[in-house]
Amino acid sequence: MAAYRAPIKDQRFVFQSYLDIERYRAFAGHEDMTDETLNAILTEAGKFASDVIAPQNPHWDRQGCVLENGVVRTPDGFATAFRDYAAGGWAGLTGDPAYGGQGLPRSLGAACMEVLNGASMGFGITPSLCGAAQRVFEDVASDEQKEIYLSKIVAGEWTVTMDITEPHAGTDVGTMRTKAAPVGDGSYAITGQKVWISGGDHDMADNIVHLVLAKLPGAVAGPRGISLFIVPKFLVKTDGTLGTRNLMSVGSLEDKMGNHGNPTCVMHYEDATGFLLGVEHRGLPAMFTMMNAVRLDVAVQGVAIAEAAYQIAADYAKTRLQGQGPDKNPDPNAPRDTILAHPDVRRMLLTIRSVAEAGRALCMKTGMMFDVANNARDPMVNAEAIMRASLFTPMLKSYFSEFGVEAANLAIQCLGGAGYSKNYGLEQLVRDARLGMIYEGANGIQALDLVKRKVGSDDGAAMTSFMGGVATTIANAERGGTFTQNLIQPVRQVLAKLNEATNQVVDDAAFHPVASAASAMAYLRLFALTAMAEAWLKMAQAAEGALVSAPTTDFYKTKLHTAAFFMNEILPDADGNFRRVKERPDNGWAIPNAHF
Ligand SMILES: Cc1cc2nc3c(=O)[nH]c(=O)nc-3n(C[C@H](O)[C@H](O)[C@H](O)COP(=O)(O)OP(=O)(O)OC[C@H]3O[C@@H](n4cnc5c(N)ncnc54)[C@H](O)[C@@H]3O)c2cc1C
Repeated sequence: MAAYRAPIKDQRFVFQSYLDIERYRAFAGHEDMTDETLNAILTEAGKFASDVIAPQNPHWDRQGCVLENGVVRTPDGFATAFRDYAAGGWAGLTGDPAYGGQGLPRSLGAACMEVLNGASMGFGITPSLCGAAQRVFEDVASDEQKEIYLSKIVAGEWTVTMDITEPHAGTDVGTMRTKAAPVGDGSYAITGQKVWISGGDHDMADNIVHLVLAKLPGAVAGPRGISLFIVPKFLVKTDGTLGTRNLMSVGSLEDKMGNHGNPTCVMHYEDATGFLLGVEHRGLPAMFTMMNAVRLDVAVQGVAIAEAAYQIAADYAKTRLQGQGPDKNPDPNAPRDTILAHPDVRRMLLTIRSVAEAGRALCMKTGMMFDVANNARDPMVNAEAIMRASLFTPMLKSYFSEFGVEAANLAIQCLGGAGYSKNYGLEQLVRDARLGMIYEGANGIQALDLVKRKVGSDDGAAMTSFMGGVATTIANAERGGTFTQNLIQPVRQVLAKLNEATNQVVDDAAFHPVASAASAMAYLRLFALTAMAEAWLKMAQAAEGALVSAPTTDFYKTKLHTAAFFMNEILPDADGNFRRVKERPDNGWAIPNAHF
């Protein structure tokens, strides 16, 4: 099986061509963010991912986790790899320097998260949760809580879980029943059952900080009655050392189809000691801070899986001899061509590559938007960045988690029967990637969030601002080279479609609730395709510009051909999605339930 290679050159290209790294230096705390610094960090992250994590990934998948005497053991090497990850300072890469973090950009964090997940998605889940939890602590924790917990999380000494789901309360979080009773000394007794808890118990770190959603006595029904609690596995003494084990237990391990290295637990809290995090009854908004950070990581996971699948498929296609290309006269005695001679194989490879590269750019850009939101000195720029990041998050989570599965499947097809075997690791990628569409809010919910809350509010202000940005990219591209100029028309056309669809989506959200919900996914895909088209237009312009001074560089030429492939082969999907929105579908609303 081919070894995973971190796509450092492509990541650097995104920083240079799409993110405008120069801008960073204008932000507070980012003055030293040079190209050399970025390169050094990307290189080290890539080495850790490809040398330490990737070689162990197939074994972690096979061995899985076990629950013995109430304690979870991860597969051999998993816990050591996590401790190495922590010792390398990776857990605090984007963390608050006041608590031991490095305060580096979240766009860089997204790039590092990609290589971790490309090497092993099962490994990447805990780092993602721990990184996202830092955002919640930074936002709502007291200074004392930051001192006790945040510094340990930033150091990677303690891990974090996100305890939302209950057996009867999955998507419908508001119906959850876990209770928090005030004890009288400032703490709370937490009682309830949570299911599907990633990293609920393990042997990777000294303590686990469970962030548990629960209801206080007298809380109103629904999402507004939920509060957030810190429930540590081991209670922390006043001197910061670990005390007694808290009253919680692991009921069982969920029997999953993939990501076997990461333990997913049924958790029982039986009068466990918890501490309020943030404000009473405001637990869900606090948890959304964490979920939005994780959702970006889930999109990154999709991109990472696509890149890993591409590498396996491209390596195989370069050596597998089969048939002859359509440009030759058939000759049974002639040497066989590699399967790269077949345009359909190229279509599959370039489908993965063109979408994954655009996805990488969009994920890193959204990371940058979070950076802008936190560090820009102009409040208007700051507010605009928050709006843009929250508009992009559900789209990225849904589109790229789904694409991760599609990419792994396409890669299997490139290998034929060999892809269907377990020898090349592609079937593991399909099983691992499949999770992304389900957790952190099922993809259908992301689409509803997009049309109702992100586009539907403020008369579509966030989308209007995004579309203004695309128009600016088009105007800039008109000053680009010939190749770039030839890419403008499809971007202009998809922008016009998105504009028209947005007007209808805003209207539907207000007046046609069934059509709005039924067309939400089509709209999300139209948005994703437009965003990717803009990204490719910008990246193509940069690549064409770079070719002026380095005309023989295949790297940049390949970028141009990949951009053209995207416009010709992928972007036309926008037409079908546009039509779906315009036709105000009802998705079989009239069919009685009994007939399903
Ligand atoms: C491996 C794994 C790890 C997980 N880790 C965690 C974790 O760490 N912490 C945690 O709290 N949870 C975790 N989860 C749980 C996960 O977040 C839930 O599975 C998810 O929120 C969906 O809930 P559900 O499974 O109950 O599905 P349901 O809520 O029963 O939904 C089933 C399907 O119905 C559809 N649907 C439901 N409601 C709507 C709606 N309103 N509109 C449109 N469609 C809808 C969706 O397609 C959905 O997939 C994990 C799950 C898995 C599989």
